[in-house]
Amino acid sequence: MGVGPAHATAVIAAAGSGERLGAGGPKAFVPLAGRPLLAWSVRAALAAETVGAIVITAPPGREAECWRVAAAEGPSAEITVLAGGLTRADSVRAALAAVSTGIVLVHDAARPLVEPDLFDAVARRLANEAGADAVIAAAPIVDTVKRAGTRRADIDAAGPPIVAGTEDRELLWVAQTPQAFRAERLREVQHRAEADGSLAAATDEAALIEGAGGRVLLEPAPAQNFKVTTGTDLRAAEALLAARDRV
Ligand code: C5P
Repeated sequence: MGVGPAHATAVIAAAGSGERLGAGGPKAFVPLAGRPLLAWSVRAALAAETVGAIVITAPPGREAECWRVAAAEGPSAEITVLAGGLTRADSVRAALAAVSTGIVLVHDAARPLVEPDLFDAVARRLANEAGADAVIAAAPIVDTVKRAGTRRADIDAAGPPIVAGTEDRELLWVAQTPQAFRAERLREVQHRAEADGSLAAATDEAALIEGAGGRVLLEPAPAQNFKVTTGTDLRAAEALLAARDRV
């Protein structure tokens, strides 16, 4: 069983405030190598063979602006924009209501360096692995990782953090997006998490599937598909995208 051309929907989460970037407005509209940041993910998703529709979560009140940015990149019939929620997980939950395909690819607009092939890779692998509930883009860890305490309370304690241990980095991966899910299964775990109050705390959808005992596969992805969070990230993304446009 494969995923045919245009049989998946990409949900692009773009409703964040962009506070950490300090650009004075939502990150989605920050200029990046000649386009608003959101446009790069829309462009990549539309160029993926498996993607036939896009649902974007916009900062509330900025839906029309998101729509204009997205429609400049491709056929507007394939694009839906709706207002995001208070947290990323709330935004993605709202977006799932507008998804009518069996497979959904959740992606953060904050990863503008994503390439069309990565959408296709996670979508096709999920379609081909009957026993999997999700396939997520991820990169192996290159740094040595220290754990500062064993509970959240440890890091809230006064004074500089103290090392409680070193993780085995051979076992660690950095989760990225896109993340591919069976839409029905994702709705089910979102609903359950909302009911037990754990939805808002989920920093990705794969965690909801894991929490429900589901099987999540890692799809190796380039570290270059990083999340733009700070001004330094923005400058790095700008340089990489400008170089890509030159080739
Ligand atoms: O905050 P974080 O960096 O995890 O955000 C990841 C992505 O989720 C961003 O692209 C952001 O626009 C989106 N987001 C959202 N709704 C929110 C908060 C964040 O769609 N309420």
